[in-house]
Amino acid sequence: DNPIQRKPDWIRVRAPNHPVYHETRALMREHKLVTVCEEAACPNIGECWSQRHATMMIMGEICTRACAFCNVRTGQPEALDAGEPGRVAEAVAKLGLRHVVITSVDRDDLRDGGAAHFAAVIGAIRTAAPGTTIEILTPDFLRKPGALEVVVAARPDVFNHNLETVPRLYPTIRPGARYFQSLRLLDDVKQLDPTIFTKSGLMVGLGEQRLEILQVMDDLRVADVDFLTLGQYLQPSVKHAAVDRFVTPDEFADYAGMARAKGFLQVSATPLTRSSYHADEDFVALRTE
Ligand code: SF4
Ligand code: SF4
Repeated sequence: DNPIQRKPDWIRVRAPNHPVYHETRALMREHKLVTVCEEAACPNIGECWSQRHATMMIMGEICTRACAFCNVRTGQPEALDAGEPGRVAEAVAKLGLRHVVITSVDRDDLRDGGAAHFAAVIGAIRTAAPGTTIEILTPDFLRKPGALEVVVAARPDVFNHNLETVPRLYPTIRPGARYFQSLRLLDDVKQLDPTIFTKSGLMVGLGEQRLEILQVMDDLRVADVDFLTLGQYLQPSVKHAAVDRFVTPDEFADYAGMARAKGFLQVSATPLTRSSYHADEDFVALRTE
């Protein structure tokens, strides 16, 4: 008897068996890279990797936080690997990506939260793959003064930081994080460099109410956030937060419509939307509009 709820029909995931999927996998292994696609057991891995879209996760596989929805291991992380920026950049160049998303674990153990490492990765990608636009999905740099400035100065094209859920659910779903800190981080990015696009995302189906989601959208717009993603939360294992309910495709369409009306430039709101899902197409489409 599996206590993880049965998924509805609209959550369909194709098995990964495309030849390019295996090529992408081999490249990640060869460069000793960690991907959030695997770490988060992302349901889109078959589709994304078949198109060489992999989201690399830097600064190790062990996180100093323990978010209730996340499949990444919690513990004392290892020292930073100085060779990582070069290996990430080489992989990006080999994949031939138009747009890449780089994320990381949270490194509360480091004095700068890993900001300088993020900047080094951005710099290395710019050198190895000058035509690739760079999106970073960062931790909140809580209690790391000066860290954000270092990352922004490296000039990513898109700065993404997920609010993940509504403020009421932070104590249970995102303990260790602070809603207003995350919001302020996004606001600060825009203040520091208005040419950087900002982006955030939420998971739904964790027990939030519709009006709470609409309020978060308003908060994000007040912080001048440009792009929004909304996707269904899926429970990675029985040890993680349970799914409260499966939000229907119609409800996602309603959220998408509301988000567009509120002025987000790019909105992705479907059951299988993830922060990095189709990020390349969305961003390239925006730039050529
Ligand atoms: Fe990886 Fe993002 Fe695609 Fe999931 S949606 S497989 S995390 S690139
Ligand atoms: Fe997972 Fe990020 Fe939370 Fe760490 S900070 S547990 S990687 S969601």
